[in-house]
Amino acid sequence: SHGDLHAEVVVLGSGPGGYTAAFRAADLGKKVVLIEKNPTLGGVCLNVGCIPSKALLHAAKVITETEEMGGHGIAFAEPTVDLDKLRGWKDSVVRQLTGGLSGLAKGRKVQVVSGYGRFTGPNMIEVEDGGTKTTVSFDQCIIAAGSEPVTLPFIPHDDPRVIDSTGALELGGIPDRLLVLGGGIIGLEMACVYDALGSRITVVELMDQIIPGADKDIVKPLHKRIEGRYEKILLKTRVTGVQAGDSGLTVTFEDEAGGTTTDIFDKILVAVGRRPNGGLIGAEAAGVVVDQQGFIAVDSQQRTNVPHIFAIGDVVGQPMLAHKAVHEGKVAAEVTAGHNRHFDARVIPSVAYTDPEVAWVGVTETTAKAEGRKIGKGVFPWAASGRSLSLGRSEGITKVIFDEADDRVIGAAIVGPNAGDLIAEVALAIEMGADAVDLGHTIHPHPTLSETVNFAAEMFEGTITDLI
Ligand code: FAD
Repeated sequence: SHGDLHAEVVVLGSGPGGYTAAFRAADLGKKVVLIEKNPTLGGVCLNVGCIPSKALLHAAKVITETEEMGGHGIAFAEPTVDLDKLRGWKDSVVRQLTGGLSGLAKGRKVQVVSGYGRFTGPNMIEVEDGGTKTTVSFDQCIIAAGSEPVTLPFIPHDDPRVIDSTGALELGGIPDRLLVLGGGIIGLEMACVYDALGSRITVVELMDQIIPGADKDIVKPLHKRIEGRYEKILLKTRVTGVQAGDSGLTVTFEDEAGGTTTDIFDKILVAVGRRPNGGLIGAEAAGVVVDQQGFIAVDSQQRTNVPHIFAIGDVVGQPMLAHKAVHEGKVAAEVTAGHNRHFDARVIPSVAYTDPEVAWVGVTETTAKAEGRKIGKGVFPWAASGRSLSLGRSEGITKVIFDEADDRVIGAAIVGPNAGDLIAEVALAIEMGADAVDLGHTIHPHPTLSETVNFAAEMFEGTITDLI
């Protein structure tokens, strides 16, 4: 049966996964409908994620770098922060990108349908917008419904002083004392922004380190730096209660031994993870299996258990990252167009855009040890990098991990300014099956931070001559 509209490929959700899939399918000649409940395209990443956070992190970096230049003979006045103007600039960056997407959709004749989409059958989605309902029938579908911040039952989320990452990016004010609940990437990036803007920060994390996915030695320089700037970093600590009062939010902390303490904050940023939206799209009407958490299982072609329905991005699982969603979006779109494409990437890099940045890709030392894998490593401390020292920074580390059997590169972790850009070289090395000699014999430009990857490989090989 036909709906009000018919699509050869319908894409549910317009985040980095969804818009990529829609554009790719259209480029391959498919008639595409893209369904989005938000007024703008781009999903979490463009509207309330990757992009606005990076704009604010840039502002934070300028503030802290000018502070630190004081020690090198260049003194600036205390920054004055015009929050409305800063917010306006951040919003203009977002607007430029989301507006650009609308143009790109039009150019490809991708029809955007606004509203909330739910399956009503295996070949039908009903889109609700205010009172209006539009039915879209489809031959094939790509679910790209993304994720939302996790909420905690014992936290008064309706109190305006309790915010999530979206609230933090709104820049509603600069709290005097901010508790960041969750020491993962999103929490620490926002902590970095509010610290630079003048808040006094406490970070609380359940695990025994911040950024629990990364190796401890790589996280240490970040920990050390923020320890010196923030009020407190509480590890192995659980928040068990939040009491909203007139003078602030009273938070109860429980340490590993079960001892409790309380402290009072002006705002709390809850950044304890993201929950997939798979359970909110009527998937059962289409026969698509969604697990308890809201994830949708897919095969290597991004197919769900229903062969003409695909899923991509945050809704299919970890890591919940935009570049993973984009890659999966291309795979799914090409499969809908009859190409024999599979998701066969060896690695997906992760980056915390904190100061210093923390980036890792492939095998970590922690996972290698846990799996009993035989590895070798080359570790280069940035204190011996001329470029790093000339940036006024010496805490960085580049660690490259090799398979002991054949010296092939299987992982890397980098901490330091621009680590996120540097990790891409190692991702390419892993994808291409490069070994230590490949990295060590490739001439890197001097003086750059990229040399640290070259030096780490030489450290492993034992061929390094001088440290610069
Ligand atoms: P999403 O971007 O979540 O998009 C899903 C879209 O679907 C949304 O627009 C939603 O409105 C729409 N939708 C959902 N259900 C329906 C429905 N039923 N009907 C209609 N529309 C629907 N990742 C990185 O790689 N790098 C970063 O630097 C980075 N920074 C981040 C910073 C923050 C603060 C946050 C919160 C996230 C960050 N991420 C980052 C993660 C990144 O944003 C996500 O991995 C990415 O957006 C996932 O893309 P997606 O296409 O799966 O879904």
